[in-house]
Amino acid sequence: MANQDFLNEISKRRTFAIISHPDAGKTTITEKVLLFGRALQTAGTVKGKKSGQHAKSDWMEMEKERGISVTTSVMQFPYNDHLVNLLDTPGHEDFSEDTYRTLTAVDSCLMVIDAAKGVEDRTRKLMEVTRLRDTPIITFMNKLDRDIRDPLELLDEVETELDILCAPITWPIGSGKRFKGVYHLYRDETVLYQSGQGHTIQEVRTIKGLNNSELDEAVGSELADTLRDELELVRGASNDFDKELFLEGQLTPVFFGTALGNFGVDHMLDGLVEWAPEPLGRETESGTVDSKDEKFSGFVFKIQANMDPKHRDRIAFCRIVSGKYEKGMKMRNSRLGKDVRISDALTFLAGDRSLLEEAYAGDIIGLHNHGTIRIGDTFTSGDNYRFSGIPNFAPELFKRIRLKDPLKQKQLLKGLIQLSEEGAVQVFRPLANNDLIVGAVGVLQFDVVVARLKAEYNVEALYEHINVSTARWVYSDNEKKLDEFRRKGEQNLALDGGDNLTYIAPTMVNLQLAQERYPDIQFTNTREN
Ligand code: GDP
Repeated sequence: MANQDFLNEISKRRTFAIISHPDAGKTTITEKVLLFGRALQTAGTVKGKKSGQHAKSDWMEMEKERGISVTTSVMQFPYNDHLVNLLDTPGHEDFSEDTYRTLTAVDSCLMVIDAAKGVEDRTRKLMEVTRLRDTPIITFMNKLDRDIRDPLELLDEVETELDILCAPITWPIGSGKRFKGVYHLYRDETVLYQSGQGHTIQEVRTIKGLNNSELDEAVGSELADTLRDELELVRGASNDFDKELFLEGQLTPVFFGTALGNFGVDHMLDGLVEWAPEPLGRETESGTVDSKDEKFSGFVFKIQANMDPKHRDRIAFCRIVSGKYEKGMKMRNSRLGKDVRISDALTFLAGDRSLLEEAYAGDIIGLHNHGTIRIGDTFTSGDNYRFSGIPNFAPELFKRIRLKDPLKQKQLLKGLIQLSEEGAVQVFRPLANNDLIVGAVGVLQFDVVVARLKAEYNVEALYEHINVSTARWVYSDNEKKLDEFRRKGEQNLALDGGDNLTYIAPTMVNLQLAQERYPDIQFTNTREN
């Protein structure tokens, strides 16, 4: 039996990510959440985009200019008696692959919706992804300090468009200039809003009960009456919070507030630590690993280079699934069957790196990667199983990449392979010639790659058109058939950054023909390590 201290460490942890459409308020909420975690004294320094204070490498500059977030960061902070891990997901749709993998590393998600707009595109797509694992969702309706849409209509839209039941936990009183606060349905109290307090943790005034005359005095009797009427409707028409349905991903508790005004964010956090699941186990090829298992295990969902220009290194982000990380411990990379001693894992408390003594299930640790760690790798305390479900996606866009200075071929290849390990882009080397082909899921990745090659590897490269429209990883249980395929199909075969055999097709029709011609070969558009 695991000892109680160990079990307490696990049960106090919550690991989540924010999903939202760009501009809905993810960054602002992150700032406020960290403020509550007392990780920041005054909110407002999370992203270079706003403060411009952080030194960034060139490609991060580019990211800043374009106002998008390419990187995923991890933040840990205490809240009430819990320890919360927040994983930031890149907002731009070009990087959906990264986002997808980050969502495999969390146990719940916060969905932020701009209440003036309602359900938007990107939110819809991200919700689809969370549905694959039935991740529990908490909803925050943001920007109540602006004129918003009818709240009942918003709930209805979430229910019909995202196919998830809504259980309002708080209910807004007015919006825009007339925003007065929220009524908490389960605490039976009104929490009053004060504007201009966004950078602090506010002393709030609360009023118990709905039929309290203080409420009429505080918000005016017109809004108080509207609130009472709406609540009657809400109680009849919407769902009560049901923890089981929430944990199954079928029902979402809904909070209203304004991230900018730092109002309502704490209600949401209270709900998160109370209801969201503690660290969950994960599937391997041979069964589930429970988070309470005392043996260490974890998987790598993200590799990121040069997070800090002063430390020119690559960090592999590993989600701990079970057991405990301790400084100096030995871990096995089960793909390589090799043990390594780790004494310098990192944690990312409020954006700063600090050396970490120990970490538990649900936590993310940063491992220095000298080229041996790949996305999807499993670390164990000696077992050889591997976690499943952390895929690479076949790219849909292809370009040939060429050097301006042909003497730097070696650096180019090294750079491309390292960037492909990060999952930023994929690189293919045809068996039949010396081309280098870059494959990406989104257009922006091409620019990022050239910028980073220049900044980090000192090579200037440019793109040329290439006649490739799709790629598939190829496998076969039948060695003989695979050999035959390798010989006959050489013109269309390539190795990816991890030396996996890939079929590069000039057209979809070509791919179909190859599939018909070689029925013993499997062509897949996702690959797990
Ligand atoms: P992200 O793209 O989802 O990270 O969104 P940001 O947090 O960067 O917010 C986008 C814009 O909306 C910024 O100008 C914010 O200041 C603004 N914003 C965020 N939350 C609120 C809010 O509660 N009220 C108002 N009025 N503006 C907000």
